[in-house]
Amino acid sequence: MQTSIKKFVECTVPISHCNLRCSYCYIIQENRRDADMPGFRYSPEYIGRAFRQERWGGTMLVNLCGAGETLLCPQITEVISAILEQGHFMNVTTNGTISAKFDEIARLPEELRSRLCFAFSLHYTELKRTHNLQNFAENVRRMQQAGCSVLVQLNLCDEYIDCKDEIKQFCIKNFGALPHVALTRNEHGGGVVHSLSSQDTLTRNISAMAESSSLRCSSSHVRTSGSSGMNFVTQEIGASHSTLLQEN
Ligand code: SF4
Repeated sequence: MQTSIKKFVECTVPISHCNLRCSYCYIIQENRRDADMPGFRYSPEYIGRAFRQERWGGTMLVNLCGAGETLLCPQITEVISAILEQGHFMNVTTNGTISAKFDEIARLPEELRSRLCFAFSLHYTELKRTHNLQNFAENVRRMQQAGCSVLVQLNLCDEYIDCKDEIKQFCIKNFGALPHVALTRNEHGGGVVHSLSSQDTLTRNISAMAESSSLRCSSSHVRTSGSSGMNFVTQEIGASHSTLLQEN
C-alpha cells in the first residue's frame, strides 16, 4: 500500500542541553546552552491529539530536532510514539549516544518503528574524544535492526579534513557505506554560524574532501540545511509557540 505524504513539518524540541561539546556547535558559540532540561509544555497525549491527520489533511513527515541533543528531552520517547500513533512518518535527529533512549524506542511496537527514521549526526572528533564512537555505531545498528531507517550524516567542518580517511574507514567498517555529508553552516556571510572565514575556503575544503577522500561531496550528497525546496512548516512543540498544539 502506498502512502502519500501531504506535508513536511519541522519541529524544534525544547532542549539546549547536550552531553557533547562539538567545536562547531552554534548553541555553544551563541552561549545558548542551558543545563536545564525543561521538557515539553504539553503531555505526549495532548501532542498526539494535535497531530491528528484530520487537522492536517493527511499523513505527514514530521522532523524532531533539539537545539541540544534531542533524545535528552524528558518524555521524548512518549512524544515520538504519540506522533507515530497518528500514522505519520518521522525523522529524529540525534548525536547517537543516549543508549537508554534507543532501548526505549526499540521496545515500541514494530509497526511504529517501521515509520521512524534517525538522522545520526556523526560528530566524529567529539565522539572520539569522549570515547563514544563504538556506542554510536552500536546504536545505529540497533535502530536498523529494530526496523527503523537510519542515516549517518557528517557535518562539514575543517577539523575533519585531517581525519577524513579515518572517518571513511569507521563508516565502511561499521555501516558498509560512506556517510551523507551535510552543509549546515551559513556560507553567505553576515550570519553567526561560521567555522570557516569565507565561502572560498569552504568550497576549497569541500573539493579537497571530495577529491582526496572519496567522500563524494557531489550535489546529491551535500545538503544545505533548510534548502530542500519543500513546502514545510516550522513549529516549536515546546515552551513558546503553541498554535500548532491548540486543540480545535
Ligand atoms: S551534538 Fe549537536 S548539540 Fe551537542 S554539542 Fe554537538 S553540535 Fe552541539
